[in-house]
Amino acid sequence: MIDDSATEELTQLIEGYRRFREKGWHPQRARWDRLREGQQPKVMVIACSDSRVDPAQIFDVDPGEIFVVRNVAALVPPFEVTTGRHGVSAALEFAVQVLRVKEVLVLGHGMCGGCHAALTQELRGAEPGKGGFVADWIALLDDAREEVVREFGTEGQAAARAMEFAGVRVSLQNLRTFPCVSELEGRGKLKLRGAFFAITDGILHLLDERTGRFHPA
Ligand SMILES: [Zn+2]
Repeated sequence: MIDDSATEELTQLIEGYRRFREKGWHPQRARWDRLREGQQPKVMVIACSDSRVDPAQIFDVDPGEIFVVRNVAALVPPFEVTTGRHGVSAALEFAVQVLRVKEVLVLGHGMCGGCHAALTQELRGAEPGKGGFVADWIALLDDAREEVVREFGTEGQAAARAMEFAGVRVSLQNLRTFPCVSELEGRGKLKLRGAFFAITDGILHLLDERTGRFHPA
């Protein structure tokens, strides 16, 4: 039962949960039983927190198939041993060293608010809790932004898309600063990939790192 204090939002979530119990839980009991023993995903996906870009939905995968980290703008920070809570680094370490995933895929997306804020610098100087955490996080894109702004300026579709593409490249570059990642990649045990989902047309693009260009999958 949903009690009287239930909001419309919670009611929708619970209704969704009931559909899941019917269509996702009971029919797939064997899968859930196997997963109870442990997870063995082969792929880690780093995606944006944006509600429109759910990797499990885009790649149509079942539970247990992808290990996902989502954050503002799908960013990976560089390898750093400074104090602080390194959430992405912890997840990466777990995926690569413990789960031994074979691929790490960075999934950027169109209309990304984080990339837009990086481009416009609209949150620069904001206090923590009032935009400052986001500003500090997307400052990871500052160097890449300089190049984008030189070529495309700070406004318009071309600039936005260039910033979003650049974000994927920055994350790949930062992934390679982790010794465990670069070593496994060097030995051919780990593959890094860049991808981009354009939410305007629903088309997935893959990055060709040799040319630096994204092509429809
Ligand atoms: Zn985003």
